[in-house]
Amino acid sequence: MNDSTPANRTELSALGEFGLIKHLTQAFINEQPSTIKGIGDDAAVIDYGEKVTLVSTDLLVEGVHFDLSYMPLRHLGYKCAAVNFSDIVAMNGKPRQLFVGISVSNRFPVEALEEIYEGIRLACKRYHVDLAGGDTTSSLHGLFLSLTVTGEAEKQDVVYRNTAKENDLICVSGDLGSAYMGLLLLEREKKVYQADPAMQPDLAGYDYILERQLKPEPRTDILELLKSAGVKPTAMIDVSDGLASEILHICEDSGLGCRIYEDKIPLDAMTIAAAEEFNIQPVTAAMNGGEDYELLFTINMNDFEKVKGLEGISIIGHTTEANAGVFMASNNGPLIKIEALGWNHMRDVE
Ligand code: ADP
Ligand code: MG
Repeated sequence: MNDSTPANRTELSALGEFGLIKHLTQAFINEQPSTIKGIGDDAAVIDYGEKVTLVSTDLLVEGVHFDLSYMPLRHLGYKCAAVNFSDIVAMNGKPRQLFVGISVSNRFPVEALEEIYEGIRLACKRYHVDLAGGDTTSSLHGLFLSLTVTGEAEKQDVVYRNTAKENDLICVSGDLGSAYMGLLLLEREKKVYQADPAMQPDLAGYDYILERQLKPEPRTDILELLKSAGVKPTAMIDVSDGLASEILHICEDSGLGCRIYEDKIPLDAMTIAAAEEFNIQPVTAAMNGGEDYELLFTINMNDFEKVKGLEGISIIGHTTEANAGVFMASNNGPLIKIEALGWNHMRDVE
């Protein structure tokens, strides 16, 4: 479905490497004063003055990290960029420059790369990030994308994973589990389609969870909200692998335990409805689903009053001393030990 029809299919060889790079990158306009030199030399030149530089890379492999049978190419481009930016946001920094390595087989026409770059461009525009370079190569099979984002922050503003303190409050933005339910839905419709191509996917009414899977957003707005409330998190991470895995990162790295409360975990009504349909617990989607790209962070107890009324932030528990362990108080009573299963595990048990 992603190969264009022959009528508008331009072979990669028609443009050549330099022609292709120029073609793909010409619509990008630099906005950041820190981008002294972007595309067009052997290296980019970036100047953050007195500030620190944050750098993060993601490598994505077709068939492992994305499935082009239900991921439109434009969404793929947007999502790769957005989740890359989210890593900078999770450090309490501002994403500034993006570098895109792309390795592609001649199965893909120029038009397919145009779609990916259109998605990347939309994400860059929305978050004011400059495309400042990359690399382009051919591959024998499939599509590989390697994205590197740089960001800036004042040194004292950077928030790490390993700096939570005992008796901090644990908070999370938005809602959790929705991206995973979107994935299950897309996979179900793919199977239906494979069994009978005459069947059209039945995705109506599921917009929110589909959008959460296909078009995640880095929560720059939450950083603004916290800043204007005068709160600096004591530790922070973005929820890429599921709440369980991220809580364990913060607790283990900070040398702490925690209690979170199942009834405090924010779930959207559509996540709950879809989970019921798929016969799974919504809390399982939140804990082990992943790809929500919400922010999980801890705050000092003294900041409770400042945070409790903030829209889009839920307080879901608190940290403890390490010996108390990492547990969730379930709705029906018992404490459940939090373990990181991640969604690879979820796939195995399906
Ligand atoms: P080099 O031979 O030094 O690796 P290239 O010819 O690969 O340089 O790249 C020329 C310029 O285009 C560089 O600024 C590089 O960062 C940029 N560039 C190359 N490929 C991409 C891409 N896929 N996306 C964005 N910029 C790219
Ligand atoms: Mg190169």
